[in-house]
Amino acid sequence: MELLDGKKTSLNIQQELAVNVKALVKTGAKAPHLAAILVGNDGASRTYVNAKVKACQRIGFLSTLIEYNNDVSEQTLLNKIHELNQDDEIDGFIVQLPLPKHIDDTKVTLSISPKKDVDGFHPENVGRMALELPTFLPATPNGIIELLKRYNIPTEGKNCVVIGRSSIVGTPMSILMSRKSNPGNATVTLAHSRTKNLKSICLSADILIVAIGIPHFIGQDMVKKDAVVIDVGIHRIEDSSKKSGYKLIGDVIFEEVAEKCSYISPVPGGVGPMTIASLLMNTFKSANEKRN
Ligand code: NAD
Repeated sequence: MELLDGKKTSLNIQQELAVNVKALVKTGAKAPHLAAILVGNDGASRTYVNAKVKACQRIGFLSTLIEYNNDVSEQTLLNKIHELNQDDEIDGFIVQLPLPKHIDDTKVTLSISPKKDVDGFHPENVGRMALELPTFLPATPNGIIELLKRYNIPTEGKNCVVIGRSSIVGTPMSILMSRKSNPGNATVTLAHSRTKNLKSICLSADILIVAIGIPHFIGQDMVKKDAVVIDVGIHRIEDSSKKSGYKLIGDVIFEEVAEKCSYISPVPGGVGPMTIASLLMNTFKSANEKRN
């Protein structure tokens, strides 16, 4: 088994971007600028946003973090998004999900300008992705594509099973794996909570991408020998032996599946850092296109 090391790969991408940022700034252009909106005090969301801001600083991007309390009104948030849409200093921005229940996620996604939607969630960008037109690809699925590419994992003609049909992970992942490209050209099955015979479907997978959101759902019995396994899930589990009081685990039982598969992405250190790399690539693309 070989580890699909997302942490190392993400750092490689960040080093490449840092070189490109330096070259851009040398021409007299401003460095790419990413803004992030964080609502509420969810520990996991704060960790993700902080990691994104830190990565920006590491590679020479400008970054702005905008924070609101949990009780912020939907209108205040929409007004801020409108402001960021108009702000020429900002190349791209994200609104960290999940949002509090009183705020409509869809309304928020629709209000972000597709030109600054570096998370790739806006319907215009999702449509362009499906039509194989240039766009901002959704950060997590594109991070997985980049990981497969950099490890030279063959995907053409392979059976790929994606479990989970969320609009930010599973559904776009299934589209990207079936596109006429490399990585891509796979025969894709999209499984979800109503799927029958999930185990036998999983056992047909040469590439198994798991985005269910249930800790340790996939064990060895659901994985074909020598399959490539990508674990998207992230869960905080209490662990008194850790200083933080918790540890991170995925949707896959890493130890037992690792024995059977050819490649596996760990949690932490797999898909999470690749999501950040992908977000930075999208922000650089936005800035570079605007400056040229
Ligand atoms: P979601 O809850 O929106 O979607 C889960 C999907 O799993 C649904 O489509 C559902 O149909 C399917 N599902 C649920 N139970 C199932 C079952 N028993 N059998 C088959 N399918 C089932 O989740 P999401 O937003 O796609 O996230 C999935 C996981 O990935 C979560 O743990 C989340 O924290 C993690 N995540 C990680 C990153 C990252 O950067 N690493 C990014 C986004 C999400």
